[in-house]
Amino acid sequence: MAKYGLIGKNIGYSFSKAFFTTKFSQENRTDTYLNFDIASIESLKDVIQANETLKGLNITIPYKESVIPLLDRIDKEAKKIGAINTIKIHQDGSLVGYNTDHYGFAKALADFLPLKEKSALILGTGGASKAVSYVLDAMNYKYQLVSRTKTETTLSYDELNEDVISNHLLIINCTPLGTFPKTQEFPDIPYQYLSKDHLLFDLIYNPLETVFLRLGRAQGTQVTNGLKMLEYQAKKAWSIWKS
Ligand code: NAP
Repeated sequence: MAKYGLIGKNIGYSFSKAFFTTKFSQENRTDTYLNFDIASIESLKDVIQANETLKGLNITIPYKESVIPLLDRIDKEAKKIGAINTIKIHQDGSLVGYNTDHYGFAKALADFLPLKEKSALILGTGGASKAVSYVLDAMNYKYQLVSRTKTETTLSYDELNEDVISNHLLIINCTPLGTFPKTQEFPDIPYQYLSKDHLLFDLIYNPLETVFLRLGRAQGTQVTNGLKMLEYQAKKAWSIWKS
């Protein structure tokens, strides 16, 4: 019997635990999936030492970047992205880091393509934003990052005028704004300039329809939540653990 699990902070309800527990039961596997809620990423080694049969871990907020120095090797794509959401634990105890968010995002986005133009705004600059940027780079999209902190490479939210919105047809929410329980929050963009040619992609999946998506839908815009991305990234993590 092998163990798998999720490393994060204040994990609470976990999609991953529900997903893998159902999967193991459907496949008559005796494997288990556990949540490891840790206060500091330094506790990763303790978790691994205390759970001898651990074969794989998912990594979530806030450890996707801080886990990197604790790994023995990092997959080429994960290194380019600069964020890890999956660890494979080898028999010799070595830890290899992967990113499956980019795969999940690309696969979920594919259902909505092509858009009229390859242009995007990415809201937020954290781990998920890096995986999304990686995918858009690979697809030759022109995109702008939007951040609360204005830098040479980012727009601030108050720069998002009619022109900017009209010229960026794919808008991806990579911030946690709108996640349960603070479901009334939403990114501060001028929704009135959205059109039917836009696609709003929210990485959030809890709730299934955020205020961000609802405001987009009200403008006749195509919208999608983060559930399919989540399923695809979990399936990819499983294929890495089983390889
Ligand atoms: P993260 O590393 O904490 O980054 C979130 C980014 O959002 C921050 O870097 C920040 O960018 C921005 N932000 C944070 N608080 C904000 C606020 N109050 N107002 C405006 N912007 C704020 O988190 P992450 O790992 O990238 O995850 C982001 C979201 O994507 C989470 O909701 C997560 O659950 C979701 N996610 C979903 C999937 C999926 O499979 N569906 C996969 C990965 C992540 P600035 O400081 O530049 O503003």
